[in-house]
Amino acid sequence: MKRLFSKLVPEVLILVAAALLVTMPSLRGPANGLATVFPFTVAAAALLLGWRFNRSRLVFAIALLALTEYLLLKGVEAPRDRFYYQAMTFLLPINLALVALLPERGTLTPAGLIRWVLLGVQVLVVVFLAQSFSSKALGFLTTRLLPARWTAWTPVSQPSIVAFLAIGTLLFMAWLREPQSPVRGYFYALIAVFAALSWPAAGAGQEIWLATGGLILVIAVIEASYMMAYRDGLTELPGRRALNEALPRLSGQFSVAMVDVDHFKRFNDTWGHDAGDHVLRLVAARLAQASGGGTAYRYGGEEFALVFPGKGQDECLPHLEELREIVETSRFTMRRRFRPRVKPKNDKSRKTRPGITITVSIGVAERNHRNASPDQVVQAADKALYRAKEAGRNRVST
Ligand code: GH3
Ligand code: MG
Ligand code: MG
Repeated sequence: MKRLFSKLVPEVLILVAAALLVTMPSLRGPANGLATVFPFTVAAAALLLGWRFNRSRLVFAIALLALTEYLLLKGVEAPRDRFYYQAMTFLLPINLALVALLPERGTLTPAGLIRWVLLGVQVLVVVFLAQSFSSKALGFLTTRLLPARWTAWTPVSQPSIVAFLAIGTLLFMAWLREPQSPVRGYFYALIAVFAALSWPAAGAGQEIWLATGGLILVIAVIEASYMMAYRDGLTELPGRRALNEALPRLSGQFSVAMVDVDHFKRFNDTWGHDAGDHVLRLVAARLAQASGGGTAYRYGGEEFALVFPGKGQDECLPHLEELREIVETSRFTMRRRFRPRVKPKNDKSRKTRPGITITVSIGVAERNHRNASPDQVVQAADKALYRAKEAGRNRVST
């Protein structure tokens, strides 16, 4: 339940709030007032963040939204403006997807300049088409692909709807493949942008939807920065900073277990650093699923911490013993790309690629009268870990 909720926050909440704001008659006054400042506030925040955090993609996306707003406010009275509107609805999702999926390359770097030029060329081509044969081009952009009544609820033409659906699917798949990536923000922003383009009345509603799209992108950057600070990029576990903040928040009894991979330097020397990284990710996944309600953190290097709120060390021991055994009995098969640096002498072993055994040593300590502060508990757990190593590794010590 909590995980489902965290998947919907904050973007779905923001979209629902925007929908209420633009549809509730009683909120019309505040909505009109907000529409005069909201877009500028979002644009200012986005440019500031883009500049300070080097997020060129945010700057590009905001430029796209600003261009959209400019064209929407022009209205669609003249045939030429109708063509501008339709060309924009078709090109906008494509450009947003390019921004979302191309790597971060800076705003005023050569790669960034190429992107600005690409955008400029599109504008020039659209203006040229609008000047020369606007009705023909308009006919092309509004080709009917499906029965008209299916899409009568939106002024967006059918080719553009197809573009939105295709890009939406693409972004959704990219998000599923990489749950932590900022592409999620672009997926939700695409929904807000579509709402803006479909909005029946010109003015405040459109502006609020567009600014909402921008707000979602701004929040995505802030969330990504938070993640970078608190989450370890390799294992995706919360990092040491998160641990340091979590421990003082605990009241009453708790235990901390320090988990260290045995002879990991030797493993790296044999299999290479990439294989070592791969194993750290696998061990981290086992830790994240540890029983007993412990939360796993990457403490640093090949060391992890497990925090058990409300438990004394003796209560943790069976869970830690189980974890130790799970790691020991897991077969960490090395994918083919990880060739051992030192070739095994016996050639058969290469064909069968036997699983590699990884073991961990664990030291656990609880908060008590002697170790009252979080730092003292961590230090005590570290000492217990040292004892586990001394006693021969692959064991749990208190
Ligand atoms: P012990 O059994 O006593 O713990 O021996 P050990 O070799 O595991 O301990 P040591 O502290 O001497 O070495 C830890 C090694 O972990 C050194 C370093 O190369 C490796 N390591 C630390 N962080 C990473 C990482 O992020 N990726 C990889 N691949 N290796 C790492
Ligand atoms: Mg080690
Ligand atoms: Mg170590």
